[in-house]
Amino acid sequence: MRKWQERLGRCCLSVEDIRGRLGLPDDEMDQLLDIEKRYPVCVPEYYLDLIDWTDRNDPIRKMCIPDPREFSEGGEKDTSGEADNTVVQGMQHKYSQTALILSTNQCAMYCRHCFRKRLVGLSSEEIAERLPDMARYVSSHPEISNVLISGGDAFLNPDSVIRRYLETFTAIPSIEFIRFGTRTPVTFPFRITEDDGELCAILSEYGRKKHLIVVTQFNHPRELTAEALYAISQLQEADCTVRNQTVLLHGVNDSAETLSALMNGLVKAGIAPYYVFQCRPVEGVKNQFQVPLSRGVEIIDAAKAMMSGPAKAFRYAMSHPTGKIEIIGKYGDAMLFKYHQAKSERDQARIFTRPVSASECWFSDPDVIL
Ligand code: SF4
Repeated sequence: MRKWQERLGRCCLSVEDIRGRLGLPDDEMDQLLDIEKRYPVCVPEYYLDLIDWTDRNDPIRKMCIPDPREFSEGGEKDTSGEADNTVVQGMQHKYSQTALILSTNQCAMYCRHCFRKRLVGLSSEEIAERLPDMARYVSSHPEISNVLISGGDAFLNPDSVIRRYLETFTAIPSIEFIRFGTRTPVTFPFRITEDDGELCAILSEYGRKKHLIVVTQFNHPRELTAEALYAISQLQEADCTVRNQTVLLHGVNDSAETLSALMNGLVKAGIAPYYVFQCRPVEGVKNQFQVPLSRGVEIIDAAKAMMSGPAKAFRYAMSHPTGKIEIIGKYGDAMLFKYHQAKSERDQARIFTRPVSASECWFSDPDVIL
């Protein structure tokens, strides 16, 4: 067993483990214990240590400790139509240039705001099993120029599995670059820095064949610790480009000051801000974490006023079954949107407006054409 696996074996797997630190009355503890039966808990000791335990509303705490609102009504399991895009078990082909692989249902931490809450730590039904079938599909679709290996968390795969993915996809001529989706730099940086840098050595080896991009998810400036930044620097030394996608989360980063501090900190560390995603209406997530769209635009605009050019190079977007829709801003009494990526030809670069009420956090019918 590798050191990172041993260390992960010591993470907190139940709120019972941290009862003393949570400081909750018995009835609230009972509620949390019920929640973790439906949505598993896993928090590395490292991430627990980032929490300010004197603050019940600490943003880091919100991202990793269950909350009774996870049981409240409403929401969907699969908000971006992932099941409809599956072409081989565990592989989706939604946008013509990209194949997306759900390589594992494991993560170093089960984030309370996860949009794949339906599967992380739970079901393996949608998880990739047969690499040869996926490779055949990608080889026979030369329009696919890149593969995004996600999960769960792509870096929770053992090194041998990561090597196999890289061996397979770097050998396909039409593939130009490979992305890994991982939150380990944020939640468990030791995955990258322990074991004599074995993972980085593999990335460096295959990075000489095809460009490798690591896409991570810092949501709060306090996650930019010395350990996290060291892990990022190791990935960069292995010649990986590191990009960040943040989720706009109520009670975590829904203020201009927090968001601008985060983006400016990312750029300082050589991480390119990529997207700020509107939190999806996921069952067990939406009631706690969604920020209304009109409020989101106000926060983004105010935050951008405090950012350098590279820090505001991201798009504020919602990931919809029909594509990635950029949320551009307010337009008279309505709001203005533009397809950044579309599933169908009809929607490519399509701009539209729609009225959005002050409390609306999402819409499912982006059909109002300007
Ligand atoms: S690491 Fe990513 S996939 Fe895993 S629970 Fe967190 S947000 Fe979800």
